Amino acid sequence: MVERLGPPLEEPIFDELAIIGVGLIGSSVARAARTRKAARRIVLADRSRETLARAKELALGDEVTNDLKVAVRNADCVLLCAPVGATEEIGRTIAPALKAGAIVSDVGSVKGAVLSALEPVLPSHARLVPAHPVAGTEQSGPDAGFAGLFMNRWCILTPPEGADPEAVESVRAFWEALGSHVETMGAAHHDLVLAITSHVPHLIAYNIVGTAADLEEVTRSEVIKFSAGGFRDFTRIAASDPTMWRDVFLYNKDAVLEMLGRFNEDLTALQRMIRRGDGDGLFELFTRTRAIRLGIVAEGQETAAPDFGRRGLQTDEQAP
Ligand code: NAP
Repeated sequence: MVERLGPPLEEPIFDELAIIGVGLIGSSVARAARTRKAARRIVLADRSRETLARAKELALGDEVTNDLKVAVRNADCVLLCAPVGATEEIGRTIAPALKAGAIVSDVGSVKGAVLSALEPVLPSHARLVPAHPVAGTEQSGPDAGFAGLFMNRWCILTPPEGADPEAVESVRAFWEALGSHVETMGAAHHDLVLAITSHVPHLIAYNIVGTAADLEEVTRSEVIKFSAGGFRDFTRIAASDPTMWRDVFLYNKDAVLEMLGRFNEDLTALQRMIRRGDGDGLFELFTRTRAIRLGIVAEGQETAAPDFGRRGLQTDEQAP
């Protein structure tokens, strides 16, 4: 599935966009915003000089700096693209340098913790509109990004109560320009939904790959050699960035624990079916779960291709 971003916008949504954290997501936003001309000028900031040097080589923005205050001083919109655990520290650092009325947004996979981290530290003139593009890969860093990452994916906005409607509209228009569908919901609801659709599945993948690696009666070379049967797909997810995912579980603790509780109950029920030889029960569950997969494919959030069509997606709009 190779999809193209539309033609450049006639008027950019932001005059100046500052992106803090130029990894997979930050560099993808920079590439897509450039391709679509969604911002007239893009300033990139990161704590790592190596990452910034690479961002410069790739021509991802108009300016790169490791001084976050310098990065945000003229920005109409500041987009935090670092791991969730760095949010408060970044918020505190940029707060005194934000220009009047600047929009502060982010891409964090957890939203309640982002709101709690930013609301107390941002100046009252800043307009906070947190966001979460539900799109990604298991890779990290500026080379891993690509402009088509957000194409036909959902982006969830979780504006706090009393958020400026104009700022919310600008953030919505920005993500739509990058090819996303946009939905708005409360931060707590976001965290519960993502716990079951993303966070717990990642935990299961980390766990099953860890269990297989620790088995004594099955050798590591057997695990690798025979990985086609389901395990391979788990290893892709379990290769996801350790820092990002550590933060997801630390900062979405309650929702993840709630969903894990339900998961454990259902797993126990499955265990019982296997022990009792309840073939009908197993068949009925597997039929229901297959229908969910078909629904995801039908809504364009996945392809029916056996390799999930991921190679095709990666080739989309690579250049800045
Ligand atoms: P990434 O590729 O590891 O990039 C994160 C970048 O942020 C790195 O360059 C990192 O630098 C930098 N950084 C870390 N702490 C910083 C700080 N205090 N100040 C400035 N820069 C800092 O990670 P990513 O996958 O793009 O994830 C970024 C955010 O997107 C996370 O909040 C994640 O929850 C969210 N998200 C990720 C996905 C996904 O699938 N990956 C999907 C949706 C949303 P170092 O290399 O020096 O650490």
